[in-house]
Parts: sequence; structure tokens; C-alpha cells
Amino acid sequence: MRMRADTSATSMTRFVFDPVPVPSLPVLRSQDRVPVRRIFCVGRNYEEHAKEMGIAVDRETPFYFTKSPSAVALSGTTIAYPPGTSNYHHEMELVVVIGAPAFWVEMGAALSKVYGYCCGLDMTRRDLQLSERAKQRPWDLGKDVEMGAVLSGVAPAASIGHPQHGRIELRCNGATRQSADIAELVWSVPELIAHLSCFYHLAPGDLIYTGTPAGVGPVEPGDRLDGSIEGVGEISVVIGAPDGG
Ligand code: MN
Repeated sequence: MRMRADTSATSMTRFVFDPVPVPSLPVLRSQDRVPVRRIFCVGRNYEEHAKEMGIAVDRETPFYFTKSPSAVALSGTTIAYPPGTSNYHHEMELVVVIGAPAFWVEMGAALSKVYGYCCGLDMTRRDLQLSERAKQRPWDLGKDVEMGAVLSGVAPAASIGHPQHGRIELRCNGATRQSADIAELVWSVPELIAHLSCFYHLAPGDLIYTGTPAGVGPVEPGDRLDGSIEGVGEISVVIGAPDGG
């Protein structure tokens, strides 16, 4: 049985601070929105990207890090160049939107828990990620970056199905930086959901960034990123002025 701490607000709750609004993503061709619950990200899920990061793909088990839901920035906006880095990188990714409770889900049932898919940019302070990695420290400063979880509108699986292949691309100021096929994912979407659901009660609004293909690279203030995933959608963002030091 699932134990839950009683942390819910009621109509009688008097907050000492205004609660943070729930971040949400538009559903494509709809007025509906997806509330974002948690953001899981898979590391090294394309072999060529693992190689460019200097580490072989681990075929034993996938691994994860997380981003805060408050880090969500919507496609079509301008995001600040964050403080604390001089090597801010783009990572173009297919993102899975969970639409039903999933706990200890079998692979064969995993896709029935998916609401839809969108494009995501896992923006990364690469200098800090690599220095943390070298010191065997957590990656939070490298990965959990304010405005660093850029997301497009969501394409419902009811409309587009469950894409197994299709071109995933990212252009910076019109020049192609990343180009691969989502069929190259080391761990497939059903495998990821089955595995992650052994550790978490996945629930509607949970997102899974599925990993980036090769070609990650730095951005500078003023750069424009345009990404696309065949059969899913498009994403674009402009890198704004540096935010602080
Ligand atoms: Mn990533």
C-alpha cells in the first residue's frame, strides 16, 4: 500500500507565501494544457553522444538526473544565459509526457501510460557538469538550471501514435548541430518507463527527457535554436543576455 504524507492544501489552508503556480505546457491544436509534475532526464542514451562525452554507453542499466519543474521555459520565448557558466550547451531531446499512474509497469503496458510527446532542450552548464562528474559529485549545478528545461507544445499520442523512428535535429542560427534518428535511442521509451517505474510512482504530468544525440555544443547570447522531431513537433528559443555574473 502506498503511504502518503499529508501535504495537501485545503480551502482552509493559509499559506505564508503565495504558492508557486503550476508550470504547464500547451497541448498542440487545443486550448488544453499539461501540468508539469516532475522532470526526469536520461543520461547517455545515444551511443554517438556518449562517445563525444568520452564515456561508453552503459547497457546494464539506464541512469537519470532531474530538473526542477520551476525550470520550465516554453518554446518561442527568450531564456537567460545563466550565471556560473562559460560553456552553456544545447541538448535536443524527445520528451515523454506521462498520462496515467505507472508503478512497476511491464514493458508491454508502458506505452498505455503515455499521454503524448514533445520536443525538449536539456540546457546544460557543461563546464560545471563535467567538473562535478570528475569529482563524483551530483550534477545539479550543471543540469538543474533556471529556464533550462525548454519544452514545446505536447502532441497527444491519441493524435500521433508512439513514434519509434524519425529525424531529430537541432539548428543553431540556421546551421545544423545535431541530427540523428530517435530509433537510435539505446533505451527505448517502453524500457525507460518500465525501469523508472520500479523506483517512482510515475503519475500524470511527469516528463521524461529521453537523452540527446551527438552534436551538443555551446550557445552564446543572441543565438537562436530551432529543433524538430519528425512526427512530433518543433521547438525554438533565443538565448538572451547573461543573467548576473
Ligand atoms: Mn540530456
